[in-house]
Formats: sequence, C-alpha cells, structure tokens
Amino acid sequence: MVYLASDDRYEGMKYNRTGKSGLKLPVISLGLWHNFGRINNAENGRNMITRAFDLGITHFDLANNYGPPPGSAEQFFGQVIAGDLKPYRDELVISTKAGYYMWPGPYGEWGSRKYLISSLDQSLKRMGLDYVDIFYSHRFDPETPLEETMMALDHIVRSGKALYVGVSNYNAEQTAEASRILKELGTPLLIHQPKYSLLDRWVENGLQDVLDENGIGSIAFCPLAQGMLTNKYLNGIPEDSRAAGTSVFLNKEQITPEAIRKVRALNQMAVARGQSLAQFALAWVLRGGRVTSALIGASRVSQIEENVAALSNLEFTHDELERIDSILQP
Ligand code: NDP
Repeated sequence: MVYLASDDRYEGMKYNRTGKSGLKLPVISLGLWHNFGRINNAENGRNMITRAFDLGITHFDLANNYGPPPGSAEQFFGQVIAGDLKPYRDELVISTKAGYYMWPGPYGEWGSRKYLISSLDQSLKRMGLDYVDIFYSHRFDPETPLEETMMALDHIVRSGKALYVGVSNYNAEQTAEASRILKELGTPLLIHQPKYSLLDRWVENGLQDVLDENGIGSIAFCPLAQGMLTNKYLNGIPEDSRAAGTSVFLNKEQITPEAIRKVRALNQMAVARGQSLAQFALAWVLRGGRVTSALIGASRVSQIEENVAALSNLEFTHDELERIDSILQP
C-alpha cells in the first residue's frame, strides 16, 4: 500500500534548535542501531519508521555498521526511503557515521580521511541517497591527527555529501579541539552525540560546558539505557527484550539488583507524575534545554507512541530533581 504521511504530523512534536545553527531537530529522534537489520522483521521496521514520521519524528539516525549484519540497517532504510519516504526527503534529517570497524584491513575503521570518505560513499549507495544531512566521526581516533579527521569532515560538507557534521563519543577536551579546528576550516561542528541517561551522566562532567560555550548541539543516545529505564525490567527479564536477546550490548548480567532498585524508585516518581518510566527518563534528559534531542531506539510501534507522549510533561520541580539525584547516589 502506498504510504501517505499523516496531515497532522507536525502538530504534536516540538523542535529544538541545534546549538547555534539553523537546523532544528525533533526533541525525540529515532535510531536504527537495533531492530532494523536483515535479521529483523521488515514490516515491523517499516511500520516503526513511518509511524515515527507521522508523529513528527523527522530525524533518523544510522551508522555504517548498524544491522546485523553491518550495513543492513542502511540498506533497509534505503528501501523504506525508496518505497515510502522519497516524496518527503526534504522533510527528513538523516544521519550516518563512520568510526567503528566496518571492513578488513587498515582502512576499514577509525578516523583517517581514507576511511571516512569511502565509508560515507558506501553508506550513500546503501541508502540510495545523494547526501546525508549529518555525517559523524563515530569515535575519536588516538592515532590519526585530529586535523586530518576534521579536514575530511570539512571536505565531505564541501563536496555536498553531507550538509552538516558531528562527532560522537569524543570527550570534552577532544570536542573542544575538534570544534576549534572545524571553525578554522569554516565548517562549524553542528552536534555531538554522547551517551546520556539517568544511569550515565558523564556528559555533565565538562562536555556540556564545552558544547554550550561553542554553540554545539547535542543528541543523547541510549536515553532509556537500552530499555532499563522503562517498565520492561521492573519484574524480571522478559523473553522478548534486548537483554534476553542476542545483543552483545545489553545482557542479563547488566540488569543488576542495584540498578533495578534505582529504576523501581524512579518508577514510583514517574507514576506519581502520571508518566511511564520511559516518558519520565526522556523528560529528564531533555530538562533545562541543554540536550537538543533524545535519540531513542524501539522494537515496536507502541514504544515510539509511548515515548513521544513524554512531550506532554517535560517539566520537573526543583524538589523532584533533588529526589532523583538522591535516588541515583551510588
Ligand atoms: P534506548 O536507550 O532508547 O533503548 C531502546 C530500547 O529500549 C528499545 O529497543 C526497546 O528495547 C526499549 N524501549 C524503548 N522504548 C520503550 C518503552 N516505551 N517501553 C519499554 N521498552 C522500551 O536507545 P538505544 O540503545 O536503542 O539507542 C538509540 C539510538 O542511539 C541507536 O539506534 C543509535 O542511533 C544511537 N546510538 C549511538 C551510539 C554511538 O556510539 N553514537 C551507540 C549506541 C546507540 P526492547 O528491544 O527490549 O523492546
């Protein structure tokens, strides 16, 4: 059936400016790290993408290695673009990245100009796109001069293969230096993509200050701690969860009694606010306006719907924030 986007798709979503740029991002974005690979159900993947767009999620985040197998999430997303979203290309912000292992030999990972440019060319081919909106250096490369990595990003923008560039997983110091180099080259650093959630607050320790000082936006990945900050693990580990599945990034051992104790206490607060824990966790990441967008993952349409409904209550009182801090104390 031909997909027609919902007419009211812009009515419920909120869009934040990305740092000091002209680009706005939806406060909730959808990532295709898990559940969109060749091993996954294509109809479910397509339904999640189109439902997200109908809810005002204009931003879809990918990377060269998303799958499994690596590359297959981009391939799948390319099919959904070709079949459903092509008429809406100018309403979409599509990102991809390179940095982690993608192909054998010395040119298949990290941050050389050789790797980044050839990887982006491959990504564009897989997705059937002429350009992506944002291209990221996925991780800092301690061996390649940062100038080379940033010059490759600058070249990518100038050659029209990406409209903006970002970095991911860089620490505060590396980000400040990347931003300085890019500024000199004339291609500003648009955005940083760090891990950030109630259970992982490292960005508060310096990175957020660098981003604010330099007018760089931020998009928080794993804002639900891969599902731990939802009602999913409150009473055990369900069979159809990421922790019970084949993901090497979340396993049963990570769902510790200590983590669940905190998650249950947070859940009580969420319930008192009339929210699900997922909604509470997303609202918390977005509090105070320092994070441009919360980058969620999903395994089914209902999760996306529940998560977008977080927008109806994004405010916290001072007392609530203090109570959260005390729950999170080690
Ligand atoms: P989340 O923390 O949002 O976890 C998503 C998972 O949580 C879902 O797959 C689902 O798991 C569960 N979930 C989501 N919503 C609900 C809900 N309402 N109720 C119950 N369970 C829910 O993010 P991800 O870990 O998926 O990462 C998000 C994105 O961030 C990625 O797709 C990617 O784009 C980006 N990313 C970037 C990285 C980087 O290095 N730059 C690294 C990692 C991610 P289940 O399958 O159990 O249902």
